[in-house]
Amino acid sequence: MKISEKQELLDKIRRLESDIYMLENQLISIAPDDFEEIVRPWKLPPDFNPYRWSDEAAAKIIKKTMVVYPEGRAPCPLCNRHPDQHEGYALPVGLERHLTGKLGYHQCYVFAAAQKRLTDDWNRDRREKHAATEDSRIKDELKVRIKKLRADPRLKGLT
Ligand SMILES: [Zn+2]
Repeated sequence: MKISEKQELLDKIRRLESDIYMLENQLISIAPDDFEEIVRPWKLPPDFNPYRWSDEAAAKIIKKTMVVYPEGRAPCPLCNRHPDQHEGYALPVGLERHLTGKLGYHQCYVFAAAQKRLTDDWNRDRREKHAATEDSRIKDELKVRIKKLRADPRLKGLT
């Protein structure tokens, strides 16, 4: 493959990534403001855990929904969908399955987009932190080496 072809493909991937990012934002923005803190926080919560987020966020959303729909069924408060046979998902289990996609349920696309975005942000933060740690480790190692070289009597007068 020619370099120009490779570059073209890389450009195409970047454009697609940016398109996906925008689509995810649009999906997440469908959620009403009442759920903003859960699905589109301004900042990634410091205790964010990608393995627990789905269950924790679903529990918070269900709790808020049950206040508004005490009768036991509610449409999804994020995407407004409901099962074909009913006006709403059974609370709490039906809505939980819809949000998390558990047991082969078709997962809520708003919830799924939020989960992906937060997890992507979390991964990016971790990569950046790791890179910063690696940078400072290399700098420390170089300082030690330079110090050793300066202390080497055979190099006296050169440093
Ligand atoms: Zn939904």
